[in-house]
Amino acid sequence: MNAPHRSLWLDQAYTGSTDRPALTGGDRADVAIVGGGFLGLWTAIILKEREPSLDVVIIERDICGGGASGRNGGFVLSWWPKLSTLVKLVGEREAVELAQASEDAIGEIEAACEQYTIDAQFRRGGWLWTAATEVQRGSWAPTVELCDRLGVHPFQQLSPEEVARRSGSSVHLEGVLEPSGATVHPGYLVRGMARVAQQLGVRIYEHTPMVELDRREPAVLRTPNGVLTADKVVLAINAHAAGVRELHRKIVAITSDMVSTPPIPERLEEIGWTGGECISDSQLQIHYYRTTTDGRIAFGKGGWGIALGGRMGSAFDRDPKRAADVTLGFRRLYPNLADVAIDRDWSGPIDRSPTGIPLFGNLGGRPHLLYGAGFSGNGVGPARLGGRILAGMVLGDRSGLAVCGLVNGRPGSFPPDPIRYVGAHVVRTGVAAKEAREAVGQEPSRISEFLAGLAPGGMIPKKSKQKA
Ligand SMILES: Cc1cc2nc3c(=O)[nH]c(=O)nc-3n(C[C@H](O)[C@H](O)[C@H](O)COP(=O)(O)OP(=O)(O)OC[C@H]3O[C@@H](n4cnc5c(N)ncnc54)[C@H](O)[C@@H]3O)c2cc1C
Repeated sequence: MNAPHRSLWLDQAYTGSTDRPALTGGDRADVAIVGGGFLGLWTAIILKEREPSLDVVIIERDICGGGASGRNGGFVLSWWPKLSTLVKLVGEREAVELAQASEDAIGEIEAACEQYTIDAQFRRGGWLWTAATEVQRGSWAPTVELCDRLGVHPFQQLSPEEVARRSGSSVHLEGVLEPSGATVHPGYLVRGMARVAQQLGVRIYEHTPMVELDRREPAVLRTPNGVLTADKVVLAINAHAAGVRELHRKIVAITSDMVSTPPIPERLEEIGWTGGECISDSQLQIHYYRTTTDGRIAFGKGGWGIALGGRMGSAFDRDPKRAADVTLGFRRLYPNLADVAIDRDWSGPIDRSPTGIPLFGNLGGRPHLLYGAGFSGNGVGPARLGGRILAGMVLGDRSGLAVCGLVNGRPGSFPPDPIRYVGAHVVRTGVAAKEAREAVGQEPSRISEFLAGLAPGGMIPKKSKQKA
């Protein structure tokens, strides 16, 4: 197999000399976790913290962090922006509790980094949710109104001048700040978590794909050179869940794409983007961008490529055309950095759920087979919460997060492939056409408006059409 294209983060955090062995022969565990990303690793760490004698094994097809967890923007965000969706799913009281728990997860990640000495460059600079075109103005208003009505106030209204000043570009017309938002270096965090899991006694096999899951009890996981038997199994495989028959209608695998600049700390000083804020605009194909401790900008855009039947090819690692499109977005949002080079680009998979909120449950209703997937581009912080949910489910908790309304809920379904593959391409073409015209102040065509109306909300809720 060719060496996969790696992100900036993994180039910095992964030396290649630290791979863990693959599974060969037979092994047995109380709990087998499939997937060594944030979700699988938090589940393993929390399980060992709560029940040190439990025998926990992780199998990972690549290296820990080789998936989305080692490639993302490093925004550590809450679910407050998704409050209206949560209300629809679980009702007002529980929605507020879950959103609060997702905010608390940010602090838990910071605390875990301190406790276990993970230098993940955690920085709480807040999240700026902005409008970068006329039509994006006020995208947050319904969410802020709902928060006010429910008596919670996670967002601060900033003046337009303040938004332009803090973001370092007057292309940002207005926005709100969510002060709890933070950034991390995803590579150092995920590789550090794998080290911690191992120190707590978790056995990790890398380069070990599960190629078959025998769903009987105990479950048997087959890998190319081994067999793992386990009383309980946790699938934490992100967008690969789209290839699992019970989850195929619940998860669509799409890409998110990133580019980054070389270190330009003096330019960041010059434009005033020095507070460590992570920023996004309010497009459906959202732009998200942050600075790094060594003075780079990492800039991403959500949702271009889609996989057929959950099969993700090399275009989920890197795609020059999409990277050029992301670069265009950077140039539009930061015309004052027009001379700054882009020297890295990479892509990764997003596990889009029908609602934008992840699903947790028992695969096919089987109590010993658990899954969590569907973070929909907001999983760095929420995977910690997901780890608490899954660990609670494994341990049989009868109250708390393990029995929250996201577990075995009814999130709706996507159409099956190939209908959804074709449909998603058509919708995405409409969204791209609409947002490209809006970016230059032009009216979108009616057909692109219509198609964009069919797209599900992602990292932020979809803005309902407003009259000018
Ligand atoms: C480019 C990009 C930018 C993003 N930016 C942000 C952001 O700024 N903030 C945010 O909150 N979220 C962001 N996300 C989403 C976030 O990265 C994910 O939600 C989060 O990392 C999910 O962690 P995970 O453990 O579920 O998935 P992963 O990290 O993908 O872990 C799943 C693991 O399972 C392994 N696996 C899959 N199938 C098998 C198998 N059969 N056998 C063994 N192993 C298997 C994979 O190799 C992978 O390592 C972004 C995602 C991408 C791709």
